[in-house]
Amino acid sequence: MPTDQLRKIVRQNALTSGLLGVDFVPDFRKLDSDSIIVIEPKPIERPRTKTSSVDDAQTLLDQLRARYEADAPHQHFVTDHHTIVFGEGNPNARLMFIGEAPGAEEDRLGRPFVGRSGQLLDKMIGAMGMRRQDVYIANVLKTRPPNNATPTPEEAKLCAPYLMEQILIVDPDVLVTLGRPAAQLLLETTESMGRLRGRWAALRIPGDSRAETREYPVLPTYHPAFLLRQYTEENRKKVWSDLKMVMERLGSSAPE
Ligand code: URA
Repeated sequence: MPTDQLRKIVRQNALTSGLLGVDFVPDFRKLDSDSIIVIEPKPIERPRTKTSSVDDAQTLLDQLRARYEADAPHQHFVTDHHTIVFGEGNPNARLMFIGEAPGAEEDRLGRPFVGRSGQLLDKMIGAMGMRRQDVYIANVLKTRPPNNATPTPEEAKLCAPYLMEQILIVDPDVLVTLGRPAAQLLLETTESMGRLRGRWAALRIPGDSRAETREYPVLPTYHPAFLLRQYTEENRKKVWSDLKMVMERLGSSAPE
């Protein structure tokens, strides 16, 4: 069989098995061993000049973290936290994910998305041809809620200024919100996830005398924890379709 045809079949099989439950989305790196298709995850080059270098942005993020710790907005609501999970990743990332709040594992390690949801998020990032360290990951709340409760809009609003500043420092090309609290906070809406996901929206962060107003494209998608709970072919296809929209926006091609 000609190699091209073989590649196409292998690619199609990987995609189909991905969608049918063997895995979340195609992970072509699994095919390394027979060296038919190898897609190495690689950082997407920034097409535009950032106003700040990676070091500058990291310094600003460190300063913001210190300010968050001093202000401790979470003191105004009930938490069950031992550590502050501020966020992590490339301070100059083109793609920024925003989740809900840390869970038990995140609270233990002080890092976002490192539990089961995080493993799925890592797969999603890998399927987009990127590595976790290429993107920036933050949450609406930076402290674990009791029993992993969903953040209330009031709690989200108290922590929002720090998240907005985090976004301004990273200054990504695209924001992906994971789940309802992040989408509703950023888009100032009470719409359901079913209506929000898979459609481009915009986050406007008003400027002041020192800075101009910034606008960011936002693509809401389902939270990985929701996907793990309802791991249906339909939901996985929806999330994969959302991720492909993001890849197109970033100018990277999605596997068919
Ligand atoms: N769920 C989230 O929303 N954020 C995390 O960091 C982990 C799980």
